[in-house]
Amino acid sequence: MNTPDAEALLEEINGWAAIESKSEELQGVTRMMERAMADFEAAGMLVEPIAGTEGLGPHFHARTPCGREGPSVLVLCHLDTVHPAGSLRRNPIRTEGDRAFGPGVYDMKGGVVLALAAARSLIGANVRTPLPIRFLVVSDEEIGSPTSQPHIRAAAANAAHVLVTEPARDGGKVVTARKGAARMKIAAQGKPAHSGVRHQDGESAVLEMARQIVDLEAMTRYETGLTLNVGLVHGGSGVNVVPEHCEAELDIRMTDLAEGEAAIARIRGIRPYNPEIRLTVSGGMNRPPYAKSNSVAALFEHARGLAAEIGFELHDTFTGGGSDGNFTASIAPTLDGLGVDGAGAHTMEEHLLVSSLVPRMLLLRRLFETLKA
Ligand SMILES: [Zn+2]
Repeated sequence: MNTPDAEALLEEINGWAAIESKSEELQGVTRMMERAMADFEAAGMLVEPIAGTEGLGPHFHARTPCGREGPSVLVLCHLDTVHPAGSLRRNPIRTEGDRAFGPGVYDMKGGVVLALAAARSLIGANVRTPLPIRFLVVSDEEIGSPTSQPHIRAAAANAAHVLVTEPARDGGKVVTARKGAARMKIAAQGKPAHSGVRHQDGESAVLEMARQIVDLEAMTRYETGLTLNVGLVHGGSGVNVVPEHCEAELDIRMTDLAEGEAAIARIRGIRPYNPEIRLTVSGGMNRPPYAKSNSVAALFEHARGLAAEIGFELHDTFTGGGSDGNFTASIAPTLDGLGVDGAGAHTMEEHLLVSSLVPRMLLLRRLFETLKA
């Protein structure tokens, strides 16, 4: 079987990283998706585009040409990044020793190239895998997958296993559990007044929000993995005006779904300290928690055995960060973090480790070759 070397894989990754593709930058992200569709097609895969909606980029399905229906191995990928156009100037594509830098090389263009290369070499060698290999490649993961989420759930419902090509953690670990995440927004409306002349007539939305924030943050329970972070607050219109409006945005993370849902319900029911203030709550669960179930553990053990045959030790880990794996984990056994090793996701230090490319491509290929229904 034709196995690409690290140099060839890196060249392919760098070609994709050269196309800047921040989720909300429609032109760039569309160019990236079109380029990837062409590359998947050239690899002999059957590509089915999904048109973009809500002003966001397109997604696509791609599958190996085995002609079979039924359960598949779903490879879940994203090609959007958090890096705005111009980031290539701040983190140019370059290799320094084992580290290859560039926006998106680690999260997760590198991982998608590895999975594509694995499928390409199987197709090239006419290997018939036990299950059809289906890719779903999306363009809005970094903003919470607002338009791809229904496609992700539908694809997972038809999958025997889900492999997510998010980057590896801390020295090549794959991910078998992730916290869930919710986003909420609270708006307070009070009554404005001149702070010098009629302070007593005002009803301060900022004061109300300050009290609420103390309560919200106090719901954090590190013991169980529930955290509430009020990360953004906007309020007031002038230093000498009793503020009429204040808005706070919360990021909630949870290990336990029921506990997270209870926290969301409690926030939806908050009452103002000052009865003259009106509070409006919006938002809710974004990605449910991804727990290491028995079937996830079995999938990891299988991957660990394959890695040992290839010649490396595979470990797993839990992370507070979310991914599209959160959507699939409750539907089909999901193994995440199968992409490239490296560091600096979401920063201008983002890089992959060149030495991780071939072993991890081989691991994906062995998973494709061995996973059964
Ligand atoms: Zn990612």
